Order: sequence, then C-alpha cells, then structure tokens
Amino acid sequence: MNQPSLQDVFRARGRIAGIAERTPLIESPRLSRTLGSRVFVKLESLQRTGAFKVRGAANRILSFTAEQRQAGVITFSTGNHGKAVAYVAGRLGLPAVVCISEHVPAYRAERIRELGAEVVVKGHSQDEAEREYHRLISERNLQPVVPFDDPYVIAGQATIGLEMLEDEPELDTALVQLSGGGLGAGGGLALKEINPRLRLIGVSIERSPALLESLKAGRPVELEERDTVADSLLGGIGMDNRYTLQMVDRYFDEHIVVDEPEIELGMSYMLSEHSLVVEGAGTAAIGALLQRKITNLGNKVGVIASGSAVDLAQYLETMSRLLR
Ligand SMILES: *Cc1c(COP(=O)(O)O)cnc(C)c1O
Repeated sequence: MNQPSLQDVFRARGRIAGIAERTPLIESPRLSRTLGSRVFVKLESLQRTGAFKVRGAANRILSFTAEQRQAGVITFSTGNHGKAVAYVAGRLGLPAVVCISEHVPAYRAERIRELGAEVVVKGHSQDEAEREYHRLISERNLQPVVPFDDPYVIAGQATIGLEMLEDEPELDTALVQLSGGGLGAGGGLALKEINPRLRLIGVSIERSPALLESLKAGRPVELEERDTVADSLLGGIGMDNRYTLQMVDRYFDEHIVVDEPEIELGMSYMLSEHSLVVEGAGTAAIGALLQRKITNLGNKVGVIASGSAVDLAQYLETMSRLLR
C-alpha cells in the first residue's frame, strides 16, 4: 500500500470493530473554564491493553492474508505496541513472538507473556533484539508488525480522529503527541482530510523530539535517549522512515515542545479532576493547555489521553508529591 487515504481509515474502522473499543470523548470542565474553550479528551487510556496501539496492530494483522497469518506475527517492541500485538494475535488465535533484550524489566516481559505471546530474550541491547527479530522472520516465516511506519498501522490509529469528529464535528483545534508519528500521521489524516480548516498542533517532548528535529532537518535524525516520565514517547522515527515523517509534515500546522513538569501536571490533573490514570505520553498536551502555552484555540479543542501504562510505584510517588 502507498500512503493511506481516508477510505483506508473507514476500511480500518470496519475491520477492527470487534477488537478495539470505541472509547469515550469526554469534556474536561475545569480545563474548559480555565481556557474559555471547551476541551474534549479522547480516553484511549481506557482502550483494550491500555493504549491506542491496539487499533493499528489490529488493522495490520487483520489485513494479512490467511496464508500470511498462519505462522504467526512478530515484533520487537516492549511497550504498548508489544502488548497490542500480543493481545490482537491472542484474540485471533495466532501465535505471536516479541523479541526483547536482557535489559527489559522482567515485569514487562511477564505482561506480554500473560497476553499469550512468546517472549524471546536475546542480547544486551535493543539492536541485538532487533537482529534476532529479523532472523526469526525468515527462519519461522513470521509476519512483522511494526509500531508506526506502516500504512495499515497509520490507518488503524487514524480511527481515533474519525471517532473524535463523529462525537464533536465542530472541533476547531486538536493537539496530537508525536513519537514515531503513527498517531500523528493517522490523526492528521482523519482530522485534516475531513476538516482542512481544523488547526492541528503537534506536541513533542523536550527530552525526545526526534520527529520534530527530523521535520526541521527534512530527513530522519537520531537523538540520544534521555529518561522521561513520558516513556512511551521515547525512540526515533527510523532512519528508513517512509510514511510518518512526510504525513506529519503535510498535516500539522504548528508544533510545541513540552517539558517534564508540564507532563506531570497533566497526569495529576487527570487523576484529581477525572480520577483517571493517564501515562505521561498521554498528558503532554493537557499539561501544555493548563500552562496556557497556546492561544486562539477557538470554541472546541480535542486532545488524546493515549495510554495508561505507568510504573505504579513511581506514579504514586509523583502524584503524592504533586497533589500534597
Ligand atoms: C506509542 C504511543 C504514543 C506515540 O505514538 P507514535 O505513533 O509512536 O507517535 C503516544 N502515547 C502512547 C501511550 C503510546 O503508547
């Protein structure tokens, strides 16, 4: 497939309907009062497996032919994408393999095993795990499911934008967080193709702005990894990026960068206002709005609480510090 179209997004919606949830879009009254614009939050933190990635993984896996699917699927992500691939394969009764390095915390591997996937532990770095992944693809004839730079994955993530506009057709502004750019490319595709006048703002984090730096450079750039409370936004866009960089470049009107205190502010806001656990990757935009980083938002604003994967001990510590 070339770059996905709006038609591919509608196809994806039909395909993934039995596997991914249609999540609620709720208004956040305190933010609305603070900003003077109504703010709506798409709760992908309540999505199956706790993040939106199940949409892209489901659309990718369901688009394989029966023959392709037979041997099973494989990925090397340990985060929300790994969980999503394991979950979708399990629902479809397919074998799934997730390659990880020895440095991945045991509890993460356990989560993925609980979802029914085989976890292959290999090597001391993510690169070595990735080499094992390539070896297993050819040795066992497994189908790779990549986390963001794939037209089917992008079309799957785009169903979020479709649902947001179904619930609130008059959104004036949307903020979408960027890491590998699957959510951004997909969100941009749905939101801007349906309403070209919508103002679309990319949200990058100060500690891992690989996509933003790639946009500035006009080609994929690699950055050194730094610890962040928004750990699901870590990582680059791939030096052989084919889709997400171009699509984000096309669809986004502007970009902001968010720091760690702002991300944490968004997390504590979602807990205290809505009693919802949202991981840092899902609260960067909310934090930026609370800090009034953006003006002229129009009447209605949409943001995506993209996931709920937190290290519980660390989360509770941060929340008790902030909410004291
Ligand atoms: C993967 C992920 C993102 C970023 O999505 P990309 O497609 O990599 O840009 C944001 N939030 C959460 C919770 C994620 O798991």
